[in-house]
Amino acid sequence: DLGYMTSEKAYRVVLAGDAAVGKSSFLLRLCKNEFRGNTSATLGVDFQMKSLVVDGEPTLLQLWDTAGQERFRSIAKSYFRRADGVLLLYDVTCEKSFLNVREWVDMIEDMSQDDIPIMLVGNKCDLREQALQDGITCVSTSYGEKLAMTYNALFCETSAKDGSNVIEAVLHLAREVTKQV
Ligand code: GDP
Repeated sequence: DLGYMTSEKAYRVVLAGDAAVGKSSFLLRLCKNEFRGNTSATLGVDFQMKSLVVDGEPTLLQLWDTAGQERFRSIAKSYFRRADGVLLLYDVTCEKSFLNVREWVDMIEDMSQDDIPIMLVGNKCDLREQALQDGITCVSTSYGEKLAMTYNALFCETSAKDGSNVIEAVLHLAREVTKQV
């Protein structure tokens, strides 16, 4: 990744959302095009670089993976302060993680300097059909869209497992981020 070696500005994008919604897996898919069935919990904060071409412009993103656990919240918080954009994930098969989105948005709005672009991401959409058949309450696409609208956020559903929409979600957010900064 040569972008990392140059002095070109890197935009800071922070991943947020409850533990186990798939933040580390999302980053692994985006940066290494891999998926692991069993990822270990992120301890504190970790980052990856990703270069993209956004509207014809080479763009470097520094993506921060924050741990979702309560005990790491204070660490995660400080990362929002200097963020240029946020990928806010929930798990479409875990209603609780969707209900907690509000708390995350409040924290992001509290901590960040300006109105930074937020991409709300409903992850694990590969699991939804089976989960519904198993009687698990899932978050529908339209609920996700509506919530995103109330926060003036972008919206997308992804699967870190099969890779669907991962790059699209990041590109879409990057387009907003580079417009703002
Ligand atoms: P994090 O705590 O938010 O970083 O979540 P992880 O990336 O550690 O993912 C938690 C678990 O969900 C792991 O077992 C992953 O393999 C699994 N997982 C993450 N994303 C997906 C996805 O899109 N589809 C499926 N089926 N499993 C996923």
